[in-house]
Amino acid sequence: MLKFSKCFTINLLNEIREVFIMDKDLHAIFKEKFATEATGEYFAPGRINLIGEHTDYNGGHVFPASITIGTYGLAKKRQDDRVRLYSENFPNKGVIEFSINDLEFRKEDDWTNYPKGMMKFLKADGYPIETGLDVVFYGTIPNGSGLSSSASIELLTGVILNDLFSLNVKMIDLVEIGKRVENKFIGVNSGIMDQFAIGMGKKDHAILLDTNTLEYDLVPAEFGEYVVAIMNTNKRRELADSKYNERRSECEKALSLLQTKLAIHSLGDLDEATFMANTEVIGDATLIKRAKHAVLENQRTLQAKDALVAGDLATFGQLLNASHASLRDDYEVTGIELDTLVAAAQAQEGVLGARMTGAGFGGCAIALVKDSQWDTFVNNVKQAYVDKIGYGTDIYKASIDDGARKLK
Ligand code: ADP
Ligand code: MG
Repeated sequence: MLKFSKCFTINLLNEIREVFIMDKDLHAIFKEKFATEATGEYFAPGRINLIGEHTDYNGGHVFPASITIGTYGLAKKRQDDRVRLYSENFPNKGVIEFSINDLEFRKEDDWTNYPKGMMKFLKADGYPIETGLDVVFYGTIPNGSGLSSSASIELLTGVILNDLFSLNVKMIDLVEIGKRVENKFIGVNSGIMDQFAIGMGKKDHAILLDTNTLEYDLVPAEFGEYVVAIMNTNKRRELADSKYNERRSECEKALSLLQTKLAIHSLGDLDEATFMANTEVIGDATLIKRAKHAVLENQRTLQAKDALVAGDLATFGQLLNASHASLRDDYEVTGIELDTLVAAAQAQEGVLGARMTGAGFGGCAIALVKDSQWDTFVNNVKQAYVDKIGYGTDIYKASIDDGARKLK
């Protein structure tokens, strides 16, 4: 039975896990909303990106991992055409209902456009979803915090539909459809990283993904006496979408200028030396900075993977710091909240590195922190943040868990 409470951390056989017990009895909620029993329980994680930020639409590498906080779903197939969806995160919206034969985007259908988009594109690809379904969703990911709650609800819906309607869809196809929903249905021009990490994630592993080819490597995320902290600025990513699109087009412009001289398909094809030797083709100082971030961040991501494999956590941490500096100074997607949080984290004893994670402009940052220093780290960073920003940050340990799946 799925029950959750407020987030607190317990130490279980030396394994630290985030536990959520909000006294949410999702089965009781399902019964109350739909007057029937759910037939399946499903889960899709959120994700952090260790390094490789704003590289996924530049043909570079990313290095994300799926985490234990995520989105839960209870579902049951219906005999008629009705799709009835309820989210315990948006109780005021009540049950939102539409027909499985009418899957147009509708603003008034609010958050249900994410699951609706999955239904629409799966059907468009020929998967037989002939009847409706009832679903209760409940997520433990703070929405809009850069941990990708939207990709989580997309992949969760994909897994539910796959199971209830015996669609036999491959996870990689659900990943691609999730991205299509985000791009073509919701209208966010994002890359493949979020859906890929959430669909293909593996417990205690990070995924080095080449966004050009979708080749990937599952790398053991072994941090020894260190843990990954997730720190939430508690600032919603306002402006994020317009700035995101602006960065994308700046990179496209820089790429097309470089292509007048170099035979490349994406900025991810360039190494540092070749890029530095050819910046004059770009000319414009801002465009050079944007492209420089894309090229060097890709290189840092590859170096970070090697450092992690070699157990060289000091180098890994320095790469996190360099990534943040580049996102702050060259790509300009951080802001006072993320910069304050990251600087405070970097200043603490036992911290090997810190950086923003996700698209930026708010959302979350991560830090590699010595576990024995955890309490001091949390206290000091919280204090520094509230002193400067005026409101609090939430800090928790990341546990890396499997990708989207049926629970039972
Ligand atoms: P992010 O993906 O960074 O968390 P987005 O703005 O892309 O932020 O996606 C957040 C939106 O996704 C929410 O506003 C809501 O529409 C939808 N969403 C995510 N999780 C849930 C949930 N558990 N229940 C209902 N809607 C959700
Ligand atoms: Mg999102």
